[in-house]
Amino acid sequence: MAPKHQAPRGTRDLLPQEIARWQWAEEKARGVLDRYGYREIRTPIFEDYELFARTSGESSDVVQKEMYRFSDLKGRDLALRPENTAGVCRAYLEHGMAGQGRIHRLWYMGPMFRYGRPQKGRYRQFFQIGAELIGVDAPAADVEMIALFVDLFEAWGFGDLTVAINSLGTAETRRAYGDKLRAWLAPVHERLSADSKGRLETNPLRVLDSKDPGDVALIGGADQALGPLPRMLDVLDADSRAHWDQVLAGLDASGIPWEIDHGLVRGLDYYTRTTFEVHDRSLGAAQSALGGGGRYDGLIEALGGPSTPGVGFSIGLDRTVLVLEQRGLEAASAPLDAFVVSMETTRAAALDLVRALRREFRVDFDLEARGFGAQMKAAGKSGARRMVLLGEDEWRRGEVVVKDLASGVQETIPRERLIETLRGSAPAKEEGKEVRTS
Ligand code: AMP
Repeated sequence: MAPKHQAPRGTRDLLPQEIARWQWAEEKARGVLDRYGYREIRTPIFEDYELFARTSGESSDVVQKEMYRFSDLKGRDLALRPENTAGVCRAYLEHGMAGQGRIHRLWYMGPMFRYGRPQKGRYRQFFQIGAELIGVDAPAADVEMIALFVDLFEAWGFGDLTVAINSLGTAETRRAYGDKLRAWLAPVHERLSADSKGRLETNPLRVLDSKDPGDVALIGGADQALGPLPRMLDVLDADSRAHWDQVLAGLDASGIPWEIDHGLVRGLDYYTRTTFEVHDRSLGAAQSALGGGGRYDGLIEALGGPSTPGVGFSIGLDRTVLVLEQRGLEAASAPLDAFVVSMETTRAAALDLVRALRREFRVDFDLEARGFGAQMKAAGKSGARRMVLLGEDEWRRGEVVVKDLASGVQETIPRERLIETLRGSAPAKEEGKEVRTS
């Protein structure tokens, strides 16, 4: 019989056996972010709806179709966050962070919510890890962001990624490009989806990230009536062009492989100049993006703050972990250090000992205080490295029996030497096996 309650469509439970892989990935990421000098920030998972509408753009899919929007009991217009950059910039302004330093390097991790059609690698609640570098418009900031982005993937064992990159210029460049796009699509206008026809008028760039299969085929070059996609790079203003050239030179100097993707416009409206993404095709075309980001020099101003440059990225952890799993990453949780077995007469002492040992070691024992035989069996099954046996006579003499469960070798030692013994050949804490990506 199906259980009465199931997790809501598009959400899922991450069970203990999967968590090891997540924790491994999170730990690796924290290490890289820390070495780059980024500091964690945690913002609420819901914010004023208006914050997202203003930053992501009224005509973006995220705002138009995918928002979890709700009113609270006082009628406030709120939304579960579909992304975290808007929240971070809101917090930056709200706490006057500009006055606490010119440059802020921040990172976040947590669940985001988008009401999309669920499928493998696409969920309604999903996890992102992301970083923001606020306060610098120098091309070196873009290069650092992309290096950090790539180094996170490298720490997870992806040695083979190429960053797709483009520049969106400024608002004026985008307007000029929008005109080009309209002219380019004019011969096939009637065959575009109703959504795309509308957007061609209001926000033409959004047509390039339409998920409608007909649009995708038309724009993707399947239609002979269309020449090659107009290039944003051809209409860049001089400053954006110089910025772009320096970003590419910086990537080359840092040894980061890149390729230009003229159709890369990103799904949110706040991007300016540099945009970038990485994909893993094994996930299927519609959800192959593992992460992406870009520069958002107008965002903080749009929130009512002073003109402040920023650049950032966000990586989808669900997809990343899925690919790691496909590539054979096994992140086994560390085995127990000891399983404590006691007799009726040493039971009380065992409770005390287990608690003391747990200050340093991973220890288990039989909660049900079953017979000696059942406890020994449980110890064998537990995967513990050692069994610690509290026999009545030994305990009275101030001794315990320690058995190495792999070799079967057993010794009787003074109680005071137990910790040292457990420490002695305790294995280095096991980590997830590195992924091979060859
Ligand atoms: P975006 O903020 O749209 O650029 O998304 C950044 C990354 O988050 C994407 O590259 C995906 O890896 C991930 N992502 C976005 N939407 C979803 C979703 N619905 N389910 C799972 N991952 C997602």
